[in-house]
Amino acid sequence: MEPQVTPSIAPDQEAEMVIVITDAQGNVRLTIPQSEAVRLVNDLLADVNPSNPKNSYMTPFMAEKISWVYTETQAGRLGFNPYAGLFTTSDGRPKEATMMTSGYTSRNNDAQPPFMPFVNLSISRLFIILRVQQNVATGFNQQVKNTFALMLVHEAVHLEHTAEFYNQKRTTEEISQEEARAWFEVNIKAVRQLRASGQPLESDFIEIDNILLRCQDDPQCPQFLKYLNDSGKVPS
Ligand SMILES: [Zn+2]
Repeated sequence: MEPQVTPSIAPDQEAEMVIVITDAQGNVRLTIPQSEAVRLVNDLLADVNPSNPKNSYMTPFMAEKISWVYTETQAGRLGFNPYAGLFTTSDGRPKEATMMTSGYTSRNNDAQPPFMPFVNLSISRLFIILRVQQNVATGFNQQVKNTFALMLVHEAVHLEHTAEFYNQKRTTEEISQEEARAWFEVNIKAVRQLRASGQPLESDFIEIDNILLRCQDDPQCPQFLKYLNDSGKVPS
């Protein structure tokens, strides 16, 4: 594989800004100096670089997709946008069920060129998983590294589609099918192999793999589609 240059993010102008993450009741769960958030994201981007020899455990599919994200980001053809977001919903569930989302800018976007692919990273979600759910005080652990890598791959699978596909009005059923396609493909070509090699994985990945195994790897299996919907993985 070609050596891959790691993209990185830069701090906002307000370098001392603090990101405050609250729960559904408005209680502060975490305050994160922006410098810490930027450092963590850049460390993760460097650590999941497929050309890093320690990442030989990644499948060729993972390496190909992450390399694509890095190449496109470095070339300025893909926007990688971390954002603070909020961690509150009325029903108490995390607002961002997944760490990343992706899409294309619209025709009338002043900030970025029209129809440009982007990956959005929820800093709130990343820090909640790390510091609250997994109780990792500094840096990150192997499990969160794997989630970060798998979500980059997941968004790259979505972005196989054109801007026309993404930006057209899609039915709930079509949105659900596209989410199922991405989770299925990443499961079959990455998660299952990581699991077999003993890599630590977030429980959602393991649950989905278990469901697909029970479904004989049928991507239309009702149990699989229901799990994606119920766990908030289908954007509404
Ligand atoms: Zn998705």
